[in-house]
Formats: sequence, C-alpha cells, structure tokens
Amino acid sequence: MLAEVSKYSAKAKEWLDILENSMLADRTGLYDQCQELLKVAANENSDELMALGYYYFAMYYLDRSDADQVMYCLMEGIKFFPKAGMYEYLARAYNTMGAVAESQDNFILALEYYDMSMTYSEQYNLPYVMAMAESNMANILNFMEDYAKATELLQNAIRHYKEARETPYTNWNMMLCHIALGSTCLRQKQYRDAEGEEQKLDELLGLVEDGRIPVFAIDVFKAEMSFYKGDMEASLSYIDKVMEDIRQDISFIEYADSLARLAQLLTRMERYELLLQIQGIVKEHADGKATLSMRAKWYLSCIDCYDKLGRTEEYMDFSRKFFTVYQDYSDNGRKTAMKAIELRDKLNKIQQRQDDMLALNAELRISSRHDAMTGLANRTYLNEYIEQCFEQAWREHKNFGVGLLDIDFFKDYNDYYGHLTGDNCIQKVAMVLKNIENDKIFCARYGGDEFMTVYYDMTAGEIREAAMKVRERILELCVLHARSSASHVVTVSQGIVCGVPENTARVWDFTFKADKLLYEVKREGRNGVKLAEAL
Ligand code: GH3
Ligand code: MG
Repeated sequence: MLAEVSKYSAKAKEWLDILENSMLADRTGLYDQCQELLKVAANENSDELMALGYYYFAMYYLDRSDADQVMYCLMEGIKFFPKAGMYEYLARAYNTMGAVAESQDNFILALEYYDMSMTYSEQYNLPYVMAMAESNMANILNFMEDYAKATELLQNAIRHYKEARETPYTNWNMMLCHIALGSTCLRQKQYRDAEGEEQKLDELLGLVEDGRIPVFAIDVFKAEMSFYKGDMEASLSYIDKVMEDIRQDISFIEYADSLARLAQLLTRMERYELLLQIQGIVKEHADGKATLSMRAKWYLSCIDCYDKLGRTEEYMDFSRKFFTVYQDYSDNGRKTAMKAIELRDKLNKIQQRQDDMLALNAELRISSRHDAMTGLANRTYLNEYIEQCFEQAWREHKNFGVGLLDIDFFKDYNDYYGHLTGDNCIQKVAMVLKNIENDKIFCARYGGDEFMTVYYDMTAGEIREAAMKVRERILELCVLHARSSASHVVTVSQGIVCGVPENTARVWDFTFKADKLLYEVKREGRNGVKLAEAL
C-alpha cells in the first residue's frame, strides 16, 4: 500500500495485511484486531505495532463518524509514528485530524492540521498525501473567500496527484479538484477559466471507468456551467440527473458544498419547486450532521425560496433556524477570521521588516562604500575592489592597471574661488570619471582632489586612450582657473601603470609606481598623462 512499507518489520507487514483486508471489507473486524494488536504491541514494546494499532482504530471510528474517538486514536498514534519511521502514516493522520476538526467547524485547528500534514508530506516526499491536504485546505480557504490562495492550492494538489502513484481514488480526487477550481472561477466570474477546468474534467472522465466518478458533484458543476453558458435546456437536464441522484440517497456531508451550490443555482433560476423537493429529502441531514457553514448556506437558499413563494410560515421558520446557526457560525467564523488576520498581519510584518532591513542594508551598503560628495567609490570600497580585481587578473593572467589622477593647482583654486566652488569643481571632475566607468574601468575618490582608476583586462593602448579622453573632457568642462600656470581652465594630471601581475607583485607596487608617474607629470608641467607598462 504505502511506499515506506518495505522498511517495516515482518511482523508489522503481517498485521498490515490483516488490517488492510478488513479495511477493504466492511471494517467491522477492525475493532477486535486493533485491540489484539495493541496488546501485542504493549507486550513487545513495539512502536511500530502501537502506531498501526492506533491508526486503524482511528479508521474504525472514522467509519462510525465518532469524531472524538478518531481524534484520540490519532493523537496517540502520532506519538509512535515518528519513532517507528512511519512518516506516511504521520502525514495521513494529520490530514484526517484536519478533516475531523473541519467537520466540527473548527477551522483554525483544521488549517493547522492540514499544514502539519503538508509539512511532513513535503519533508518525506509524499505527493499523494500532500495533494489531499492541499485540496482540503483549499476548501476551507474557498469558504473564507480567499480565492487566490485556494486556487493556488488546488493547482498544486492536481500537480501532486499527477506525480503520485495511481490509486483507485487519484482520478476521483483530481476531478473534485477541477470542479472546485471551476466553481471558484465561476464565483469570481472568470468564465473562460471555468471552461478550462470543465475541459480538463471531461478529459479525465474519458479515462475513468464508471463507479469511480463523483457523478453528483460533476452533474451539479455541469448544471452551473450550462447555466452560465446560457444553455438552459442542458442545465435543466443536468438538474434532472442531480434530482435522481438525490432521491437515490447521497451523502449530504460529502456533497454538502455541491448541494449548497445547487440551491444557489435553483434560486437564480427561480426553480423553487425543485428546491422544495430537495429540501424535503435533505431536511434531516441538514438539521443533523452537516457543518455549520453548509447549514447556513442551505437555510439561506431556503429562506430565499419561501420568500419568493410568499410562504410566510416556512420563511419565518427557516429564518429562525438560520439565525441560530448563524450565531454559532459567526462566533466560529470570527475566531477563524481573527486567526487568519493575525497570521496575515504577522506575515506582513515579517515581510515589511525584511523589506525595511533590505532597503536599509542597501542604503548602508551604498553610503558605506561611496563618497558622499561625489558619489564615487570611497577608499573602503576601492580597497575591496582593487584587491579582488588584482587577484582575478593574477589568476587569469589579465592586464591590470592603476591610475592616479590629481587636480592641478587645486590649492590655489580653493584659495581664489573659495571652498564651495572648490567642492563644485571636485564634483565636476568626478562626473567625468563616473561617465567613463564601465565593467573594465573602476573609479574612486582617493582623497582630497585625488582620484584612483583601476583598469582591468585592457591593453596599454586602450588605457592610454581612456586616460586621454578624461583629460579632454576635463578641458571641455571649461572650469576657469585664473591661478593655474598649466592652462586658463582646470586641468588634471595622471600617472598610470599597467601590466599582468607577476608572482611576487602586490597592488601596492602598482599604486606606488603610479604615484611616482603622477609626480613626474606634475613636475613636467601638469595637464598630462604618463603611462608605464610593467613595474
Ligand atoms: P598640485 O597641482 O601639485 O596637485 O597642487 P595642488 O594645489 O592641487 O596641491 P594638492 O593636491 O596637495 O592640494 C590639495 C588641496 O585640495 C588641499 C585642500 O585645500 C584641497 N582639498 C582637499 N579636499 C577638499 C575638498 O573636499 N573640498 C575642497 N574644496 N578642497 C579640498
Ligand atoms: Mg592637486
């Protein structure tokens, strides 16, 4: 049955055979078998047998709709499943507990159990159980009108059913997923998408033998689809089939959602006589076992119906019923909604905090690595970059270059034009450098009126050309400099050294040499470029 069974002990496998046979039969034998099994398990102190005993006991009670006993047995079971390495049972147990909680209108607990089931299914690669938990969770979210999330879950569920090994129920479950997706689309007035789901449903129908088809749910969906397509005749003929099914006795619990949708459809079609017929048949069930949400929807459609028919007594009766249910339901719903809001808030807050942190980090990263006045890389960033670039050039035997650029007679400029104008001048020079930056040229403010340029994988010729371009562009800025003996405008001097890093070379060797060359340019009259290849 399960993939993990091959890892069980011989004894566990023997018991499993017996229990599974009872499951396939009428399940009545399970009670005595589980009693016996739990006794053996206690004697032998076997986690594996304990786990099986409790799990199948739960299945026995599930068959009898004894929710409390099912919960108790599964709670006991989950103490043993992990110890026995029975993770598929663990994931299935949580899914079943979710379904039980849901049938008791405890949506919060149900969501938590389904979530646990999904977590284990993911961890132990159990696509089939995953798909069941996903589609169950989707039903609750649909009910809570979170259609987007429900749609996503249903789509995932279908994908997981496809991934899973085929079981007699796979196609059945997949069809229900397509119906759920289709009716979610209808509720949102996405008719084209709904038709897409109907088409996929039809494809599956072609593959499956009779008796393995959720006929009732399909017929209700088809009736809805035909109605939305404007084909009243087809819609009514599906409704006829549905009425036949209802008279044949269907499980109200299993199809409660379909029934509620049918009631809505009949109200829209103003087919009150049919609605009354259905009411007669499902009355007991609706008053008894159906969940609060389903009863609320059901009563509402009845109220509508009696109102339209002018049958005041019934109208009052159903209204009273509705309000009683509604009270319970809204108490429960309020708790669920609060939990949902709380979860969403928590999620939003975490997300917001993360976004803020990222933004702050990005800001800090930029401000800690860039010079505020010019926006160019600062010394910290330069040091980081230059080491890394040098390292790469050394590894890949690429040409590496370092240039130092200094504004000529800047002290005099400052003195003559003032510090603020001095700042402007530094910014204009920086702009020129920023504009020549690319993936091979990196510029940084080295300090004061001095800048450093790092060249990567460029020939000496290309580097010289780039340096000459900088010189030209700075001349073109035409920033007047009355105190310069190099020109009537602001000029710069550049000393550059380049070469493929040798074994013993350091970054420092390059900067030192570049500085010497810069000094030479200054001494020889400024406004020039000196480039040396190799050290
Ligand atoms: P040289 O041609 O030999 O480089 O002569 P110089 O006057 O430019 O000499 P040096 O480079 O040593 O002078 C740098 C001057 O730059 C000194 C200082 O007043 C000025 N300075 C440094 N940082 C700033 C700044 O952020 N803003 C302004 N306005 N001036 C600065
Ligand atoms: Mg200077």
